[in-house]
Amino acid sequence: MTTEEKLYTLRYKKDDESHLAIADANKCLECTAKYGEPQPCVSICPANVFSWQNNKIIVSYENCVECGASRISCPYDNIIWKYPRFGKGIALRYG
Ligand code: SF4
Repeated sequence: MTTEEKLYTLRYKKDDESHLAIADANKCLECTAKYGEPQPCVSICPANVFSWQNNKIIVSYENCVECGASRISCPYDNIIWKYPRFGKGIALRYG
């Protein structure tokens, strides 16, 4: 099964409030200078939540599959990561 096929088994209930945030945008500039592009968060996320645009990280939190990989990958501990509020986020799609 491909990553795209696995992602299709999930359903998303978007929260209006992001459960992900960048603590300090300047750390991302340091990170890019040190690790280059794609940054660790960009390359590890299977759902393409993070992208580098106009010298900053864009967080498309509504795509998040809540695996937590980005949080672990960030060498600066710069991602504020919580689960979505109750009833929001992902669930398995049945049938
Ligand atoms: S890995 Fe962390 S510091 Fe690096 S760009 Fe991503 S959020 Fe920023």
